[in-house]
Amino acid sequence: MVKSIQNNANKIGLVFILTLCLSCFNSCSIGQVGNSLLEGVKDVNIFTDEEELQFGKEYAEQHARQVTFYTDKVVTTYINDLGQTLVKHSKRNNIRYTFTVVDSKDINAYAVPGGFIYINLGLIRAVQTESELAFVLAHEIGHIVGQHSMKKLTQVYGIELLKQIILNEDSTELKKIVADILSVGWLFKYSRDNERESDFYGVQNVYDVGITPEGSIHFFETLQKLQHREPSVLEKLLSTHPIHSERISNIRAQINGLPQKSGLRTNSTRFQQVKRRIR
Ligand SMILES: [Zn+2]
Repeated sequence: MVKSIQNNANKIGLVFILTLCLSCFNSCSIGQVGNSLLEGVKDVNIFTDEEELQFGKEYAEQHARQVTFYTDKVVTTYINDLGQTLVKHSKRNNIRYTFTVVDSKDINAYAVPGGFIYINLGLIRAVQTESELAFVLAHEIGHIVGQHSMKKLTQVYGIELLKQIILNEDSTELKKIVADILSVGWLFKYSRDNERESDFYGVQNVYDVGITPEGSIHFFETLQKLQHREPSVLEKLLSTHPIHSERISNIRAQINGLPQKSGLRTNSTRFQQVKRRIR
C-alpha cells in the first residue's frame, strides 16, 4: 500500500501540501493560511477504491470474530435486497456493497470503508416502517459515498506518512498504526459535517428509489421515544450519531424542497413479514 501511495503523483502532491501546512505551523505565524490548508485536507481522500477495500476487508475480518451475525435467510435477503436497491440509486454505485445483520439488541447501524454495512437486529426491531429502515441504510451508504472514514484516515495517514519520510521509519510500523486506528473504531466517530452530508445523501437516496423520505423524520422520533424508555440500547448509536435538532431541521428543509412525487411507499409486505419473523 505504501508503495502505491508513493508511486501516485496526486498523493505525493497531498504530502507536499501537508508538508507546507506543517512547516507553516512550525516556522511562521501565517496561521490562517495553515488553517485553510488543513480545512482542505479534511475533505481529501488519498486512497484508491482498491486500498479502501483492503482496509474494509481487514476490518470486516476482525469484526466477524467480535460479533455474532444473524443468519435467518428471509431477514438477511430482505436487508440485502433493500440495501442493493438503494446502492443502485446512490452516488457511489461502482463498488460492491455487503449488508450484514448483527445479532445484537443494541439499536445501531454502521458503515465500514469499502462498502461493508452492518445493521443490528435491535434496530430492525425498533423501526416502525420500511421507510425508517431504508433511511438508516441510505444514511450508512452515505458515509461510504462521502468516504468519511477514508478522509479521516487521510488526515492521520498523511501526517504519519510524512513522519515516515522525515524520520525514515519502517513501513510496517506505519501499517500497524493504521491497523490500531481501525481496531479502536476511531474512524466511525463522525463530524457534524459528515452526519449532515450522510443525512442529505440518505434522504435523496430513499426518495429516488420511491420510498417516502418522511421515514427519516419518523426514525428520529422513534429514537427520541426510545431515549426516554430504554436509553442503554441507544448508547452506541448515539456515541457515533448524535441527534442534533439541527439534523432534523436540515432534513425537513430538504424534504420540503423535493419535487412532488406520487406513489412513494412507506411500507411493504416483505418488511411486515420480516417484522413478524423477528418479533
Ligand atoms: Zn452517520
